[in-house]
Amino acid sequence: LSSVWKKAVEEGHVRVRQGGDPVIKRALIAWSPSCAKLFDLDDGYPADDEKESIVEVLGGFGSLWPGMKPYAMCYGGHQFGTWAGQLGDGRAISLGEFVNKNQERWEIQLKGAGKTPYSRFADGRAVLRSSIREFLCSEAMHHLGVPTTRALSLVGTGAGVVRDMFYTGDPQLEPGAVVARVAPSFLRLGNFQLATYRSDDELLQQTADYAIKNHFPHLMDLPTHTEDGSPGRYAAFVKEVARRNAEMVAKWQAVGFVHGVMNTDNLSILGLTIDYGPYGFLDDYDPNYTPNTTDLPGRRYKYEAQPSITKWNISQFAKSMVKLCGDGHVQEVLNDYESSYQASYNAIMANKLGLAKLSNEQDRILLADFLDNMKQSKADFTNAWRALSQISMESTPAECERWCAQLSLLSNDASSKAWTSWMTRYVARLRQDDGIRSQEQRVQTMNATNPVYILRNYLVQIAIDKAEKGDFSEVQLLYTLLMKPYEEQEGMERFTNKPPEWASRPGVCVNSCSS
Ligand code: AMP
Ligand code: MG
Ligand code: MG
Repeated sequence: LSSVWKKAVEEGHVRVRQGGDPVIKRALIAWSPSCAKLFDLDDGYPADDEKESIVEVLGGFGSLWPGMKPYAMCYGGHQFGTWAGQLGDGRAISLGEFVNKNQERWEIQLKGAGKTPYSRFADGRAVLRSSIREFLCSEAMHHLGVPTTRALSLVGTGAGVVRDMFYTGDPQLEPGAVVARVAPSFLRLGNFQLATYRSDDELLQQTADYAIKNHFPHLMDLPTHTEDGSPGRYAAFVKEVARRNAEMVAKWQAVGFVHGVMNTDNLSILGLTIDYGPYGFLDDYDPNYTPNTTDLPGRRYKYEAQPSITKWNISQFAKSMVKLCGDGHVQEVLNDYESSYQASYNAIMANKLGLAKLSNEQDRILLADFLDNMKQSKADFTNAWRALSQISMESTPAECERWCAQLSLLSNDASSKAWTSWMTRYVARLRQDDGIRSQEQRVQTMNATNPVYILRNYLVQIAIDKAEKGDFSEVQLLYTLLMKPYEEQEGMERFTNKPPEWASRPGVCVNSCSS
């Protein structure tokens, strides 16, 4: 990408208008070679003579490659717990699907390329700052090992987009941009809900048949319905959707990702993280963390609520599938969701703690107390987890205390006492696993589960501030850094810093729904 970027600079595709608002010229701003490999581009980079065509097509300027047939999808959804009726891709346009040499199906969808039949009162556009947020986080999440839609490119459109910036009160012209995002499918829970809402049984069946045939082909062997009450094809489909979403949200919890807008139209049937808007990662551990300012003070989609909100969303989805599955299945799906979530969460948290498994109630209390201690002493979620592998079954109380001090956890007597007690229990618990694996293997597992780098809100804000002045170097740097979030990288220490004071000033790092 650096060569793509360098060339764009040389060709004058980036400039800052003197003395006025920055204008980002029409250009390829960022490219993900990692995602491009899904399209059989071996090294991930397009040929030089293809770049103009890439900007044309992936920037949504109207050009298409042969076989592309743009469309927008129609779906419904529950927004903040209330049925909102028909929604749809108001600013997403699918171009087509590519079947790669591994027989994987990858759909390309432009976000922010203009109006669709479902744009309602809005313009179908996206601004540079939200597009940078989606581009970087899609790729960061993938490399963290969290199922997600991908991002292939970020193209500056060269056009202004009007947004009413709530912190100035004035409508402002902001640079527009388009992200080309990529997934096997962008079908949402809301696609099925809409068919049922319209009492369109045929559409419901067609949508389910399409989804199963193309994306759950292993279920095709099951009969559509069974006489003896064993799950037929549709019931198995709903259960698998529930399981995939349970596994996804367990991974969110583990890395401290908060989606921000978990409406049923923003949940994928493939269990992919989808629609990056006002998301955020935990800095200090705060279970109430709610990055979406539109969701205050209710905090429906706060960190701690994500597993139960996903369950609620799945229950709406299961209800919308009753015509195909019978109504006996809803409770079973929810039970399945619950056990899948617990199993995934416990397995990941055991790895994060460096235990062979969470064996019993005592282990779960050990985990709960670690989280509670972090909350009380306002520990940085990412850094505290990452540092935990420095403790071993041989650690002395003095070493444990130094560990706490180094993370600034000992602010008062109460937290000091809580951490001392926790450390004693933890070291004793590590001893119980003695012989199961070496300390080295243990550290390896922990370091593969506790990232060094996450896309902290203030980091992406720095990249946005520079980009809005025409400098995309920080976008590039974050992209590269976050390709290897579990590896300590030389010279990159600043990216593990807790948010600076300026980041919490009013109006600086805030994000609301659609921009
Ligand atoms: P979101 O909360 O981003 O998932 O958006 C909710 C709904 O509003 C979706 O159906 C979007 O497609 C639509 N939407 C958001 N922003 C825009 C926009 N700028 N133009 C048209 N539709 C939009
Ligand atoms: Mg959406
Ligand atoms: Mg959206």
